[in-house]
Amino acid sequence: MQNERTATDRIVVVGGGQSGADFVAALRMAGYQGLVTLVGEEPDYPYARPPLSKAYLSGKVSVDDLYIRPPAMYEQQGIDLRTGIRVAAIDRTARHVVLVDGERLPYAHLVLATGGRARRLPAPGLDDAPNVHYLRTLADVTAMRHRFVPGARLVVVGAGYIGLEVAATARQLGLDVTVLEALPRVLARVTAPQVSAFYQRVHTEEGVDIRVDTAVTGFSFALDGSVSAVELKNGERIDTDIVLVGIGLVPNTELAEQAGLAVDSGIVVDEYCRTEDRAVLAIGDCTSHPCGEHGGRRRLESVPNASEQARVAAATITGNPEPYTAIPWFWSDQYDVRLQTIGLSTGHDDVVIRGTTETGRSFAAFYLKDGQVRAADVICSPRDFTAARKLVAARARVGPEALRDLSVPLKQLL
Ligand SMILES: Cc1cc2nc3c(=O)[nH]c(=O)nc-3n(C[C@H](O)[C@H](O)[C@H](O)COP(=O)(O)OP(=O)(O)OC[C@H]3O[C@@H](n4cnc5c(N)ncnc54)[C@H](O)[C@@H]3O)c2cc1C
Repeated sequence: MQNERTATDRIVVVGGGQSGADFVAALRMAGYQGLVTLVGEEPDYPYARPPLSKAYLSGKVSVDDLYIRPPAMYEQQGIDLRTGIRVAAIDRTARHVVLVDGERLPYAHLVLATGGRARRLPAPGLDDAPNVHYLRTLADVTAMRHRFVPGARLVVVGAGYIGLEVAATARQLGLDVTVLEALPRVLARVTAPQVSAFYQRVHTEEGVDIRVDTAVTGFSFALDGSVSAVELKNGERIDTDIVLVGIGLVPNTELAEQAGLAVDSGIVVDEYCRTEDRAVLAIGDCTSHPCGEHGGRRRLESVPNASEQARVAAATITGNPEPYTAIPWFWSDQYDVRLQTIGLSTGHDDVVIRGTTETGRSFAAFYLKDGQVRAADVICSPRDFTAARKLVAARARVGPEALRDLSVPLKQLL
């Protein structure tokens, strides 16, 4: 534990998002009393991104409701918060970071919490079109929200979580929504076909025109440079007022790369969030970390992962290292449908549906491997999610018939 705040015992955090904000709070909770500087390039206090595509886009909550910690916390906890400024470089030999204005901040430990940015759709004219939007930041929502008025036509490119959440919010606001997905089903990379079919049904019921297997080939532009129509491979054109592109995330790894740290689709860290340079740690969406018993490495994009890695990194730095073993989980809200997922479904050899995906809006999908429950997607059933968590944690061996049997509560299968 540090008793005096000096520049040489300083911990510098790059990135004032979910993991950066959770990390500085966890560091103080763990008793660290040294100097802590949190540098974030966005101008706002650290805020939560999940409401950006949901309650904040629809105007149900204000910016104040998004803050991860009360703004006063940073001063109360002695956190030197620098917002609206970017870290331009890391000098690992001299152990300092260089801000874009040239200021150098020495560090004893450096924590990279740089997150990621929306993947751009490469098409001529698109970057300059005022009605083409991406969704990662508060500024992104500010730029698009005034267009979300009843009757406006929205085309969403990409049926991942963000695209579908925006589609749901837009329908609730009275927009005319079309979703275009190049793959044969929505959420194809993250869920089973049955869960994809469920979401396609729900969005169709809500009035969204969902088109899968649909490649975008080009765009038509109005005189002011806005996109006026989206052109499809089958020759069709969809007239539109707004385009929202949701085709994934590019992790912000450039700083680490330029500093000579290993990057493998994310900044490579061990289970203690350490890079190969023991003075440099990395947390959140920008990291590639070991999968434990699953083997290999993974990069996760979720609040629970960002928060857990923040806690692990704080424990590592304060001398009480504990490995990151938490089972990944995630949620998504669309209309009245809350999805909660637990575990990693990659590599499963069987999917068992409890309930039905064809009617109603509540069921669970279990992903099994070698007879063990490895992951679950639970729709609108917090009680089943609690039980599913335990089944996944225990890698329970439960037969498909038992999982399907609605007359037996899930918790009895534990
Ligand atoms: C619209 C939307 C909806 C989402 N919904 C959900 C959900 O329902 N459930 C869920 O679990 N997750 C959701 N997520 C994902 C979740 O928000 C992220 O996983 C989480 O924010 C990751 O935190 P992070 O700290 O790693 O990165 P971020 O929150 O992205 O923070 C990184 C910060 O670092 C800054 N930065 C980068 N480089 C520099 C630099 N050189 N100098 C200074 N600052 C820098 C960036 O500007 C950014 O502010 C959603 C994300 C989005 C965008």
